[in-house]
Amino acid sequence: MFAVIGNPNAASLTYYGLHSLQHRGQEGAGISVLNANGDINTIKGEGLLTDVVSDPAILGKLSGSYSVGHIRYPSNGAKGYDNVQPLMMKMSDEKFAIAYNGNITNTIALRSELEDQGSVFHASGDAEILVHLMRRKKGAFLDRLKASLLELEGAFNYFILHDSGVYAVRDRKGIRPLCIGKLTDGGYVFASETCALGIVGATYIRDVMPGEIVYVEDGKIMSTFFTDDCLHAICLMEYVYFARPDSDLEERNVHSFRKQSGIELYHESHVDADMVIGVPDSSISAATGYAEAAGLPNEMGLIKNRYVGRTFIKPTQALREQGVRMKLAPIPSVVKGKRLVVIDDSIVRGTTSRRIVQMLRDAGATEIHMRVSSPPIMYPCVYGVDTSHREDLLAHQLDLEEMRRHIKADSLEFLSREGTVKALQRSKSLGPNCGVCMACFTGEYPTDLSAESFKNGKQA
Ligand code: AMP
Ligand code: SF4
Repeated sequence: MFAVIGNPNAASLTYYGLHSLQHRGQEGAGISVLNANGDINTIKGEGLLTDVVSDPAILGKLSGSYSVGHIRYPSNGAKGYDNVQPLMMKMSDEKFAIAYNGNITNTIALRSELEDQGSVFHASGDAEILVHLMRRKKGAFLDRLKASLLELEGAFNYFILHDSGVYAVRDRKGIRPLCIGKLTDGGYVFASETCALGIVGATYIRDVMPGEIVYVEDGKIMSTFFTDDCLHAICLMEYVYFARPDSDLEERNVHSFRKQSGIELYHESHVDADMVIGVPDSSISAATGYAEAAGLPNEMGLIKNRYVGRTFIKPTQALREQGVRMKLAPIPSVVKGKRLVVIDDSIVRGTTSRRIVQMLRDAGATEIHMRVSSPPIMYPCVYGVDTSHREDLLAHQLDLEEMRRHIKADSLEFLSREGTVKALQRSKSLGPNCGVCMACFTGEYPTDLSAESFKNGKQA
């Protein structure tokens, strides 16, 4: 998500900010801008940002200094145009455009209660629930917002474009990342990751804190909290896989964390080999760390075709395997006759690792030692990452030796939970207020969960 507050080029700045966040989602994109007459205009559609805004000149139609933008993560629920954000809601006395990242874990209960009271929902996702809750309350905007946020459970970053300005909200555990930047030529931005700041000429100010609502008034950043029951628990998978290596989350650089994970992985489970190969792109940093610690060459043994979409969310196993085949190719002259340490950042279903091992063997590698720079994923995510079905998770089904046999590697090791914590600490000290969510690795969820939390296929 990306938002601009108080800059006349809000629409185009949002476009460039979203463009550098495209890795966070490819299913839909949208930009809403509040114009000088108090109207909110939106451009949005399914697909990549560059498909939705094929000619950036059309952004000229979105005049105004306040905007919110969103790109949608591909998940197995709430698909289609209706769920592409920002969601517009126009009432006689106020207007909203809502962008949201995360997964609210008590929506079924809230939704049926609201529907019983007459609320009509436009989309099946969670984004608009906040507006319906706010409309049931009386009083000043911020009072209604705070009271409504208290009713939500789970992970939610919200951007609210309202007649009165732009508001950024982070849930009480800070599960998804969110930061604030200052534009050199006037105004502020909010962004999911710091990698979106440089491209628009913004400098990092700070992260939005768990439980915080941030807005700008008279050119000054204002802050208020909707609860004091806050504790940092940012998603570990943001560091492991999602975020771009040049982003800093909670002031810890993602590349540095991944590289440190590779170093810890070497110390925990090194093996005799000729070279290290990282699975592009998300494992390149960890491979660098492992290779440096091992004193081995870090080779490019696999090439990624950048024009293939995401394989992870394809509906059938055959399509997922075909997707990995199209996406990754070995370089036979590099790997032939070599004993390889292959580093991947995570194993979810095991499709990628199994396919990679096969490709590298076919290309002539003599030994393939798979090393994974995060612990086994054994529990579903209920906070918006598309690993919601426990029965799909390889590490839930099989023990380590069974997994090794399944992917047909000569050896397989994962970084331990302790090794992950060490990598976090060595890439930036973990203060008492800055912990991580590791629920999909440990089963310890950082929020209260109702029975509906584990319903399948409802991530945003
Ligand atoms: P799998 O092939 O199902 O084992 O998925 C693991 C591969 O997908 C790894 O190469 C990861 O880089 C990548 N990956 C991990 N988590 C996700 C996610 N939530 N969405 C998309 N890709 C992912
Ligand atoms: Fe991230 Fe896993 Fe926690 Fe989900 S359960 S928020 S993927 S660490």
